Amino acid sequence: MSGPNGVSVKFTDLFINGHFVPSVSGKRFETIDPRTGEVIARISEGDKEDIDMAVTAARQAFDYGPWPRLPGSERGKIMMKWAELIDENAEELAALDAMDAGKLYHMCRNVEVPSAANTMRYYAGAADKIHGEVLKMSREFHAYTLAEPVGVVGHIIPWNFPTTMFYIKVAPSLAAGCTLVLKPAEQTPLSALFSAHLAKLAGIPDGVLNVVPGFGPTAGAALSSHIHVDAVSFTGSTQTGRKIMQAAALSNLKQVSLELGGKSPLIIFDDADVDKAADLALLGILYNKGEVCVASSRVFVQEGIYDEFEKKLVEKAKAWVVGDPFDPKVQQGPQVDKEQFEKVLSYIEHGKREGATLLTGGKTVGNKGYFIEPTIFSNIKEDMLIAQDEIFGPVMALKKFKTVEEAIKSANNTKYGLAAGIVTKNLDTANTVSRSIRAGTIWINCYFAFGDDVPFGGYKMSGFGKDHGLEALHKYLQVKSVVTPLYNSPWL
Ligand code: NAD
Repeated sequence: MSGPNGVSVKFTDLFINGHFVPSVSGKRFETIDPRTGEVIARISEGDKEDIDMAVTAARQAFDYGPWPRLPGSERGKIMMKWAELIDENAEELAALDAMDAGKLYHMCRNVEVPSAANTMRYYAGAADKIHGEVLKMSREFHAYTLAEPVGVVGHIIPWNFPTTMFYIKVAPSLAAGCTLVLKPAEQTPLSALFSAHLAKLAGIPDGVLNVVPGFGPTAGAALSSHIHVDAVSFTGSTQTGRKIMQAAALSNLKQVSLELGGKSPLIIFDDADVDKAADLALLGILYNKGEVCVASSRVFVQEGIYDEFEKKLVEKAKAWVVGDPFDPKVQQGPQVDKEQFEKVLSYIEHGKREGATLLTGGKTVGNKGYFIEPTIFSNIKEDMLIAQDEIFGPVMALKKFKTVEEAIKSANNTKYGLAAGIVTKNLDTANTVSRSIRAGTIWINCYFAFGDDVPFGGYKMSGFGKDHGLEALHKYLQVKSVVTPLYNSPWL
């Protein structure tokens, strides 16, 4: 099947037990090109029966298959091979995400896909470094711990970073020796299916990785409530996160980790370089058209530089290029789908009605597809909907502040706690603010700086459990304590 821009869509069926298969119901759903609203491909729609088959395959592979029993170094070798295949197929993966999600092709090709390969390498290297501890206990007993894979893991991921999300979930859980069922978002199933094909080429044994596209209330709910799934790792909205926890509680009390929404503050102090700070603030809200869980959607600027900052920010926002994400000159593509497009526009209307000042933007771009202008509101009151809700679009709420204390209070005035940014040359201010903000990641004089070795996850209603780093590997391991008597120990 050939999609727009000549990108071929090779895989449209579910990937279960090492094979691409149609869904039991035979139903298919359309995945849409957000540049035009046209259909890219019709994808097999997984539902309860398909999830059940995928979980059975993963269960068999975990209980009887080689993967959890291989030496870590062997798992690592196969994962390294997969990383090479990601690099070799970077153009195709990048094009699938650009087309399916409206993401900038050149960012996918040059940043996100190579990072996914590195994520795979990072955890491939960690697979043979999993170990427990020896514990002295007492004169009569000693103990050791085993770090064992948690079992069958269900991954449920969103649409904003389809390839990145796929690999930050799959790589650490595979390294731990788990077997997996992954449900990609219904808006963006293409790169996950292509990645399943790469897994097979790399030598991941059948049943270890299963990919079942489908909708949240059907396939997603079936996965999170499945009795034979031992853990579920979810990234998505806070609202769905609640449902996942409920499903886990009402089924088998499976382990849950949740990476949820955000309304991240960026605080810019008087001593900042105004031009650079304006660039950072704009990148923080406009990267990936604002469809980023850590987007700096609330920007607080100290009064001494506020006017100059606002002027520069608006100039830069007006010059920002919105258009076809395959065009290298374009900085912002379309919102992912019609629903998201309409949701963002309705927040913009709300902001106007609530009395915030629309400094720039607020309108759609072009006459087809889901493009929205970079939009900046000032004169924000903190209880306004646009200052509280996660809009997940190119919409910034800008506010002036006087003191450090006021900035901290405003930054923490949210139910979320995913990330925050601070721009200052003053080390004391940076230290005080970074310790005072209740969020899982703090960026000082930078934004969006992620690393495979840097744990990432939320405080408050942004969830719990970390992706990235060895913390993520440990999420997919459980500790067994083995105790045995000691006879005639020469040591105390
Ligand atoms: P969403 O919660 O609607 O969907 C996410 C995934 O959950 C999809 O695969 C969807 O099919 C599935 N799902 C929906 N209902 C379900 C149910 N009842 N049971 C099981 N699964 C279900 O979120 P979205 O709108 O697709 O994604 C945007 C949200 O994701 C934003 O709130 C954003 O902040 C969040 N997000 C968070 C992070 C993070 O790391 N914290 C990263 C990216 C996105």
